[in-house]
Amino acid sequence: MNSAHTIEISDKYAAHNYHPLPVVIEEAEGVWVKSPEGKKYMDFLSAYSALNHGHRHPALIAALKNQADRVTLTSRAFHSTAAGEFYEKLAAYTGKSKIIAMNTGAEAVETALKAARRWGYRVKGVPDNEAEIIVCSGNFHGRTLAITSFSSHEEYRSGFGPFLPGFIMVPYGDLEAMEAAISDRTAAVLVEPIQGEAGIVLPPEGYLRGIRELCDRHHVLFIADEIQTGFGRTGKPFACDRENVTPDLYVMGKALGGGILPISAVAADEEVLGLFEPGSHGSTFGGNPLACAVASAALDVLEQEDLAGRSLRLGELTMQRLREMDSPIVKEIRGSGLFIGVELHGPARPYCEQLMQLGLLCKETHENTIRLAPPLTITEEELDWALERLRLVLVGE
Ligand code: PLP
Repeated sequence: MNSAHTIEISDKYAAHNYHPLPVVIEEAEGVWVKSPEGKKYMDFLSAYSALNHGHRHPALIAALKNQADRVTLTSRAFHSTAAGEFYEKLAAYTGKSKIIAMNTGAEAVETALKAARRWGYRVKGVPDNEAEIIVCSGNFHGRTLAITSFSSHEEYRSGFGPFLPGFIMVPYGDLEAMEAAISDRTAAVLVEPIQGEAGIVLPPEGYLRGIRELCDRHHVLFIADEIQTGFGRTGKPFACDRENVTPDLYVMGKALGGGILPISAVAADEEVLGLFEPGSHGSTFGGNPLACAVASAALDVLEQEDLAGRSLRLGELTMQRLREMDSPIVKEIRGSGLFIGVELHGPARPYCEQLMQLGLLCKETHENTIRLAPPLTITEEELDWALERLRLVLVGE
């Protein structure tokens, strides 16, 4: 099937809840994707950071095939060897004693919110049904109704009420406002250590340390949504590591599945995740052996190939090269590791379309920012290739 026909039937039959670039992908390998007509593009979006390992990493495909030949689904009615191994590996990676596995990022966020409310009632002593969770303006934590309830973006909320109560919004980056919002009813704060969908927004230095300190002082849980920033994307295993901070709950997804299968998880200690007894939470596919086998292999590859170290080094190189271009259309270049926002003075979409013509796939985020997030496996030569295209579009030569 060719690209034109694919776009035609997708437009006809798929709900229009996205606005994709007119590119059809039929095959992919590493940082490259290919259209049905054989045109090659470099993937500089990585499925919103789910492809940190690149497309079809050989070790992950081998783990997938190996597990597919054994058992793919047990439900949680039974144990599986693949899930056991995964829990142990992710506990070691996060330094937490307990893991709960789900499928999508939004489900993992929901899991963390439920855990935090339980902790509020059973450990902190918040009166029944009065728990509050503090969230930040500009947040993006997914698309379920609970999460939509505390979005600050009107287009995410419009027409979807009534919303869930119990969330208090404070400006992102503002510790004083956060402290002022904390009360005896506060169970947790939920924070993205870098806001991805908001346009790669880095909080002020010391913000995460400040949250840790506030949470310790007021007996509140610190939930870090590392779904987009985790697993090496920002140059560290987790973006919280940039400030040597350990949250009470890590919320993870995207790259945990190695860009192959959806798997998400929450990691925390017994005091929190021990509050889920049988019947209180779950998911048919959560912790399925196939996804767990791929995720275990994905964790191995992160370490074997030092993807966080590569991300740090290549991210700094990329930002330096972009700044040297000194483009008049660029307002700001910011980022951490290979998680980079190039904010323009005007809309970014036309520039993403030009980059697409030149074979580089990027996506605008929040109107004026081009998000640069290639697979962390990218080589320096491949990065040079991308930077040449970026120069052509940002500088015109
Ligand atoms: N949290 C953050 C920080 C995200 O970036 C995303 C997705 O972009 C999500 C949660 C939701 O993840 P999912 O789309 O897998 O539900």
